Amino acid sequence: MYNADTSSQKVDLGIGAYRDSQGKPWVLPVVEKAEKILLEQRGRNHEYNPVMGDAGLLKGAARIMFGEGSKVLEENRVCSIQTVSGTGGLSVAAAFLKTVYPGVKKAYASNPTWGNHKNIMETFGMEYGQYSYWNKATKGLDYEGMIRDIHSMEDRSIVILHACAHNPTGVDPTRQQWDGIAQAIKAKGHFVIFDTAYQGFATGNLDDDAWAIRRFIEAYDMEMIVTQSFAKNMGLYGERCGVLHVVSANAQVSQTIVSSNLAKSSRSIISSAPRYCGAIASIVLNTPELFAEWKQDCLNLEMSARIHKMRKLLLHNLVKLGAKEEEWSHITSQIGMFSFTGLNEQQVDILIKKYHIYLTSNGRISVAGLNEGNVEYVAKAIYEVSTS
Ligand code: PMP
Repeated sequence: MYNADTSSQKVDLGIGAYRDSQGKPWVLPVVEKAEKILLEQRGRNHEYNPVMGDAGLLKGAARIMFGEGSKVLEENRVCSIQTVSGTGGLSVAAAFLKTVYPGVKKAYASNPTWGNHKNIMETFGMEYGQYSYWNKATKGLDYEGMIRDIHSMEDRSIVILHACAHNPTGVDPTRQQWDGIAQAIKAKGHFVIFDTAYQGFATGNLDDDAWAIRRFIEAYDMEMIVTQSFAKNMGLYGERCGVLHVVSANAQVSQTIVSSNLAKSSRSIISSAPRYCGAIASIVLNTPELFAEWKQDCLNLEMSARIHKMRKLLLHNLVKLGAKEEEWSHITSQIGMFSFTGLNEQQVDILIKKYHIYLTSNGRISVAGLNEGNVEYVAKAIYEVSTS
């Protein structure tokens, strides 16, 4: 509908991809530099990747996820495999768990969640359920409901958690709430899959955005799966770059049962992962100057900061028009690429038909679709549909 709309005022707030201040897709400068290094220094190579993937990518990906020198890496308790982005990671996770986790039947994700969670789990033979997450009244987390639901799941269920920048709500648990969630999960013997598609997007800092994962391991000694996507934070969307990590209780399990079964599950689905994106991401993660530039210039100063700025500007413009700040403060307290505005389906319909502003019918906007040129117009339209 957006593409077919000929209005010069049209705005796309539906897209799940970063857009720059001109509303254009952005190729990260570090990715361009890595592509140059790849071609000039290593030359063309279209051979298969090894079954586990690009070794440099796996190492670099584990380092940013679990932390340089972390105990779990030092103890050799993480087994990693390259995947077809985050989607492929979740698919391998489901196939792998079916083979190694006896009796597992059901996987739960938040209500609401990214639409593909249900698809993927059911495709790989899991039953699928949801736990409470979004509190419509507060436009925040339904923490009590979430804890209650974790307790009422059958013991040893699979719980999918968004590590940061929850899609679609933009609502993340506080650190204190994460502790409560970890304790409830541990008490029931559930197994966690941390879905991490936005590391660096929430706070602009890779370590802070991995806090919950590291906390679950370090304070609660949990085994888990982490699925990591480089689609958003490296802008490698269509190249399909991701890594799956399994954190085990000890090195022996990690290097034998886990490693062989991960390889088996992945081979049955993709045989081996894409070579080009693995090499690019590996160069970014393992070349000190490029890594520093990625963290600081791309993630922190550009993507995360621009999104924060747009949140503030949207709220500022709404308030300027007469909206009550306390009714819209969720725009700035929510985090990451998306915001659950609280607009209903009817209001969304008017935004699309009358104002040419496109968003999903659940009221989710992609904050990255806002820029200095359209934020005032969007604020006015939102104000008008919410007050008429
Ligand atoms: N999980 C969540 C929560 C997402 O929002 C996305 C991307 N929309 C993904 C996983 C996976 O995306 P991809 O396969 O492109 O890495």
